Amino acid sequence: MSGETIVRDELAALLENAATEPVEVVDVRPPWMYGIAHLPGAVNWPLEEEGFVERFEAGTRYVVYGVNRKQGKRLLERLAGVENVRVYLEGIRDWVAAQQPTEPEVRGFACLVCSFGYYAHRGDPRGHVEPGTFFEELPDDWRCPWCGAPKSRFMRE
Ligand code: FE
Repeated sequence: MSGETIVRDELAALLENAATEPVEVVDVRPPWMYGIAHLPGAVNWPLEEEGFVERFEAGTRYVVYGVNRKQGKRLLERLAGVENVRVYLEGIRDWVAAQQPTEPEVRGFACLVCSFGYYAHRGDPRGHVEPGTFFEELPDDWRCPWCGAPKSRFMRE
C-alpha cells in the first residue's frame, strides 16, 4: 500500500497503542522547527536531506508528518510507492491547534508591555497567523495584536 493518509484522532489512538504495536513517527521539518516541539517520540528526518526516501525500512510501520497540508501533499508524492507509510496530511499545525501533547510541551508567550498572551493553538487570526503556529515561527515583523509591541518584548510563560 502507498499514498495512505491518517487523520489526527486515528494517529492519537495509534500513539496510545505504540507500546504493543510499535510505530515510528517521522517529523520531516527542518531541525530548528523540530527543536521547538514535535509529536511525542518522533524522530527528525528532514525532507530536504539527501536519501530521505531510502531511510524507510521494510517491515517498520511509519507515520510521517510535516508543517501543514501543503507540505503533507508534497510528502505523499515523495513517498508514493514506499510500503507501510501513512502521511498525517494536516501536519503539526493541526496537532498543535487541537492541543495534543508535544515534546517539549508548547508554552505561551506573554507581552511584557500589555500582558497579551500568544498561544500556538490559537495563532493570531487578525494577524493572519494560522492556529498551530509556534511563537518562534512568527515573522520578525509580527507585532502584539493588543499594543503593537515587537516580538522581542515577549517572554516565555
Ligand atoms: Fe502587547
